[in-house]
Order: sequence, then structure tokens, then C-alpha cells
Amino acid sequence: MEMQEWLNRVSTTSPDASGDGRASAEPVKDELLAMLNDAEQFVADSFVDSPELLPIRVNKSIAARMLQCEAYALEDHDGESWPQLRGSLLDVFIAMASGGHVPGHNSDPRDAQSSELEEVRSDLSDALVARGNFRDVERLAELHDDQLVDLVELGLQAAGVAVNPAWSPRTEVSQLAIIGGGALELTGRMDLVLGGPGTDSPAVCVEVKSGTAIGAHRAELHFYSLLWALRCGEEPNAMALWYPGSQVVPVEVPGAAMAAAHQVIDVVERLVAVFAGDEPRRRGGPQCSWCPLAVDCDMARIHLERGDDEI
Ligand code: SF4
Repeated sequence: MEMQEWLNRVSTTSPDASGDGRASAEPVKDELLAMLNDAEQFVADSFVDSPELLPIRVNKSIAARMLQCEAYALEDHDGESWPQLRGSLLDVFIAMASGGHVPGHNSDPRDAQSSELEEVRSDLSDALVARGNFRDVERLAELHDDQLVDLVELGLQAAGVAVNPAWSPRTEVSQLAIIGGGALELTGRMDLVLGGPGTDSPAVCVEVKSGTAIGAHRAELHFYSLLWALRCGEEPNAMALWYPGSQVVPVEVPGAAMAAAHQVIDVVERLVAVFAGDEPRRRGGPQCSWCPLAVDCDMARIHLERGDDEI
């Protein structure tokens, strides 16, 4: 299904009947909080002798990566690879486009002159500086022109999707949930949100992805459903993963927040165990292709020979 078709379908139905979403939103916040409060208490008890390490912050990346491979999740990702940087820059690109400025829209990126590409690079760099993301500014400066062309092509595909202003589109929507006494925090930044409380449109959350569809991407949207439910009292009406230029993958909503809450509890238990001395578990997956530990990892060799995990 095309993104435009899916968006039109879910955003123009009533908030209680959102097509790929659900028939009606059920309040789930109390149930979620009861589960997460127990996890928060567990964290507080586990770190009673080292309170300076609190709070434990779980975001969508750590939640999804812990599912993929604990060693990978806990590795320093400062030198992340091109797929991660491309995803991060695509988010910035879409946020700029939704504000009315589409970098590189004046020409076909494949035929763009180097001066035009430098203009795109400069626009993106300014946007990163405005976000305080100086690490990616440096990495953007080192990108090859063909990587920049790839990014602009994806960005233009995304910017070509018409989002009706009546749906109250917001990009890069930050969410923070402080659980119980504060030893556990859940944070996230949703790529694209439409409608929801205060509007006449259903709540729709979209996670934009620049690479191949993999199972861990669903876990990221589940995590957003949890954050949304903790803030708004109920899950969004519809959610999807969007791979500009490729496909949109609707993600089933009912139960997504609950699945994420269970996932957070598992993650918290494992983080506490690793802090206490457990070895992070390794599990091969598509992330082995860019994992900094891959050189010396037997699990990587096994996975790369087999290769699977597309959704
Ligand atoms: S290479 Fe793969 S299995 Fe090994 S630590 Fe990295 S992600 Fe895990």
C-alpha cells in the first residue's frame, strides 16, 4: 500500500473507526502504570547503593536493540554507521519539509551540481545545529556526494506525500514518561504524529525508516504506543512504519502498548542483571552488518551466513 493511500484512509475516518487501527480506543493507562510502577520499584531497589546511576532511561532504540542483541544495544553507538546516520538525517529532512522548506527540491538529485548538493548539506547542517546535534553535523560533513544523493531522493519521496494541515501534522514529537518515584524514565521522539487529543482527527503515529524493513522496527512503534498511552490514556488509533519510496507497513494497535510494557520490564531486568555482572547476551540479526563488535563475534558469522529477519 502507498503511504498516501494509507494516510488518507486512517486520517479521514472518525477517531473511533480508523481502518487499519481499531474499532475504539480502550483506556489502558492504569493497567500499564501498575506494571511499570513495579518495574520502577525494582530499579530503585536494585540501585539503592548507587543512586547516582539513576534514573534508568529507556528509549525506543535501547528497547528495540535489547530485543535484537544485548551486546549490540549496550555497545557505544557514537560511531554509528551510514544506515543510522541516514535515518537520523531523513527525520530532519522530513521535519524541514513539513515546515515548508524541502532541501534539494530544485533539481533531480542524480543530476544535481555539487554546489546544489553543498546547499543541501548546509541546510541540513543548520537544522542539526538548531537541534544541538553537533555529532551528526561532523558526520554529515564527511558524507560522500552519492550518500547525500541517496538521502535527498528518499527525502523528496517523503516530502511528495501530501499531509493535510487539517490533520495537525507534527514532526519530531518528544515524549517523556517518568514512572513512579522516578527511578525509571521512558523517552522517545516520534517522527510524525497526526491528529489526537485537541483535534477532530484520529491519533496516527508514523515512524519513518530509511532502510530495509526488519522485525525490530515494529518494537519501536510498540514503544511509541506505550508512550502515547501513558500520556493520553489510550493507544493511538493507527500506527505505521513508513519506508519512503518503498512501502508502508501498518502496525496493529490494540495490545501494542501492553507488548511494549512487557518489553520494558524485560529490558529493565536485563539492564539490572548486566549491571550486576551478567554478560550481555548475543543474538545475530541484520544489525550484525553494522555492529562495531562484528569483527570478533561468532554469532555474527552464523547470522550473516544464514540471513533473515525481514518483516
Ligand atoms: S555482531 Fe551481531 S551478534 Fe555480535 S554483538 Fe553485534 S549484533 Fe550481536
